[in-house]
Amino acid sequence: MTVTAPEPQFCAYTGKPLTEGVPVFAAALLGLEPPRYCVYCARRMIVQVSPDGWTARCSRHGEIDSKSHER
Ligand SMILES: [Zn+2]
Repeated sequence: MTVTAPEPQFCAYTGKPLTEGVPVFAAALLGLEPPRYCVYCARRMIVQVSPDGWTARCSRHGEIDSKSHER
């Protein structure tokens, strides 16, 4: 059984709802820029930047990091 990730609902940088015509920032998709808000619930995430990337944690949806975007 495969678990599919929910579709992002909010902008990772503004926390605003993603609607048609609002592009997802390319930097977020590439993992270059740490997100500030959870894309699933718009909570502010705890962001830690390290020399080789970043880690962002949502209290509800868990942790993501810059490497998780490289899949
Ligand atoms: Zn979340």
